Amino acid sequence: MGGALMSNKDLSHFRALRHEAESLVAEHEEHIDDVGKTEFAKVFHELTVHQIELEMQNEQLRLIQSELLVAQKNLNQFFEQAPVGYLVMDNKARILQSNHTIHDLLNYHADEFGNKHYFPQHIHSEDLIIFNARYQAFFKRPENKRIELRLQKQNGSFVRVELSGRLVHPFFKKKISTHDDAYLLVNIVDVSARKQLEEELKLAAKVFENSDEGILITDHQSRIVKVNPAFTAVTGYDADDVLGKSPTILKSHKHPPEFYREMWNKINREGSWQGEIWNRRKNGEFYLECLSVNAITDQFGRASHFIGIFSDITRRRHDEQQIETMAHYDALTDLPNRVLFNERLKHGIVRATRHKQWISVLFLDLDRFKTLNDTLGHFIGDLLLQGVAKRLKGCVRESDTVSRFGGDEFMIVLSDFEDEQTATLHTAEIAKKILSELIKAFDLSGNKFMTTASIGIAFFPKDGHSVAELMKNADTAMYHAKGLGRNNYQCYSDDMREQALTRSSLENDLRSALENQELVLYYQPIVNLQTSKTVGFEALIRWRHPKRGLIPPDLFIPIAEETGLITGIGEWVLHSACRQLKNWHGAGQSGLKMSVNLSARQFMQHDLVEIIRHILESYAIEPQYLELEITETVIMKNMNQTIKMLKSLQQLGVSISLDDFGTGYSSLTYLKQFPVNVLKIDRSFIKDILEENDDKVIVNSIIAIAEHMNIDIITEGIEQAGQADYLKIQGCQFGQGYFFAMPCVAEECLFVVKKNGGQSRDYNI
Ligand code: C2E
Ligand code: MG
Ligand code: MG
Repeated sequence: MGGALMSNKDLSHFRALRHEAESLVAEHEEHIDDVGKTEFAKVFHELTVHQIELEMQNEQLRLIQSELLVAQKNLNQFFEQAPVGYLVMDNKARILQSNHTIHDLLNYHADEFGNKHYFPQHIHSEDLIIFNARYQAFFKRPENKRIELRLQKQNGSFVRVELSGRLVHPFFKKKISTHDDAYLLVNIVDVSARKQLEEELKLAAKVFENSDEGILITDHQSRIVKVNPAFTAVTGYDADDVLGKSPTILKSHKHPPEFYREMWNKINREGSWQGEIWNRRKNGEFYLECLSVNAITDQFGRASHFIGIFSDITRRRHDEQQIETMAHYDALTDLPNRVLFNERLKHGIVRATRHKQWISVLFLDLDRFKTLNDTLGHFIGDLLLQGVAKRLKGCVRESDTVSRFGGDEFMIVLSDFEDEQTATLHTAEIAKKILSELIKAFDLSGNKFMTTASIGIAFFPKDGHSVAELMKNADTAMYHAKGLGRNNYQCYSDDMREQALTRSSLENDLRSALENQELVLYYQPIVNLQTSKTVGFEALIRWRHPKRGLIPPDLFIPIAEETGLITGIGEWVLHSACRQLKNWHGAGQSGLKMSVNLSARQFMQHDLVEIIRHILESYAIEPQYLELEITETVIMKNMNQTIKMLKSLQQLGVSISLDDFGTGYSSLTYLKQFPVNVLKIDRSFIKDILEENDDKVIVNSIIAIAEHMNIDIITEGIEQAGQADYLKIQGCQFGQGYFFAMPCVAEECLFVVKKNGGQSRDYNI
């Protein structure tokens, strides 16, 4: 029999028919001959065989059917639970079938997705155009194209999906002429996570590319696998130069091998390292980078890559060092400044205390530096300071500190002395060496200049335990050295403190000096250098102390200033001097002038003009015979007020002279602004004027400039005929000094006028 399958119904029908045939044959057995019987038996046998075959086939069919069912069920489950959303749609984009995954994705119930539900209603409005265009294209050119869309979930939020479709034709259709009745098998994949990852990767790549910090990635064998543009910008190496190579290509060899060993130990131990490292660019230049290295591990915890991120901090370090230098070093001389000096001295004190050692602090101030600076210009002044700095450094050991405090003040610390004796001896030697070094001529831009200095010395621990104390006492000693005629050094001593104590007793006594008529005026002639004639006198005050004898003004005028006693004393001086002048005028010396010194505080008296007018009137003296001497310090204190006062005094008719010119802060440039009639060049410039030095240059320029400005010059402190002659030749009009006469009491003065010769000294200072 053929292979055609029979249904159960057919089979039982077949059985019934055979059974009926067999019954018919048995019923009519007597009418059937043997031949016939044999034929029937054959037919029945065949029928039985056929029936068995049929039954076997039927069994097989049943088996296949149940297998099919299982397969269909499985398939259905695959369809429903597939990781991809499936939709079957017609050419109008109506949903014919959808799986569970898509329902899940969009949070809909299966029911809400059936019944030719219109798919585009789930698509983001902005994506509709592209969807429509592409969807139609699926039906015209059935290619498996992908579309990226945003689908709206039931809660309103959107999910990014990728959609692809395949056109399917009904299986019964033999010849395909149109796709109208075809349907589309669509699969939808949620790509949100992938998209986000892609975006993150894109961002990471952007950061990598655009980072200002150099980035270098190596594999676990230290082979460079990636570098970014900043890496190239810093190191000068292109990616091609370094890929596959080891980062040691950047090595500067500035660090010892232990440095790298420790770095890698830490990376291996903790997974990262951070620090500063010197490397080398492609062009050989060294640079400092701030580097952090991180190990990237695989799923087994083994380092698979290393990432180095660095920035070039060479410039920053340089700037920091510059700032540090600026904060601690003097720009002009490169010496440590006040700040660093203080730190070093502080440390020095701590160390000396621990080791029971001695330290000496030297306070050095150049003599009359300001005048040199002002008359010859800052350029020369700066060169001199640099030269001095260099020589000072040459006088001490490398470990000692020489610092500049600004202006012409230098501080030196010498340390590590075992005891007082060594400290004193050694420091004195150094101080002497410094003085002798400084006095040697400096060649400053082609001209020779020399300078001297006054040095004050204080010792730790004898003269103080703190920075402030040591500095104060060194300063006191320095002023003492200045007072002793400059160009020398003085060690601080308790005597100096004694002197301060003496001062307080003087202060006490001074309060009654005026009342007790202990103050007297001496007079020193001012001489016309060209004619040798006395043209006037300077009134100089002295104090006849009942116990201490004759005290010079330098010792008590500052006290009078501080205590305010100066106003009374000053007025007394003006009265006495004017009374004396009136006497001399009356005695036939009618052309004589009188110079009176005014102190700072006196000058600031608001009624000074009135007082002077009153005095002049009361002695009937013409104002042009009175000259008022003020010092540079006074003039520079309060410039505007000073100018006002000077103008009113000049209006009154008295003349103004600037005393001790060259020792203070004023400069010739300022001079123009001040209404001044006379300059008195300080005697310290005259002292060595016959020797070859810069004093000559300074005095000559002052004379020249003053002449140009129509200001008279009086040179103080002329002690020798040669000095008078030199100044006369230079065109200086007036002079004053022991060569002509010492200051003397009024009674001797007229004798001096006639004689114009030297006198004995009035007091010993
Ligand atoms: P000064 O006004 O510059 O007075 C000139 C000083 O130089 C005087 O000192 C005088 O004795 C001294 N001298 C004059 N010729 C020579 C010389 O050839 N060689 C040397 N080595 N010295 C010479 P003195 O009298 O001791 O006065 C010192 C300062 O005291 C004055 O300097 C002046 O600033 C101040 N002083 C004097 N009298 C008064 C006063 O009545 N009032 C005020 N406020 N200050 C006064
Ligand atoms: Mg004077
Ligand atoms: Mg003077």
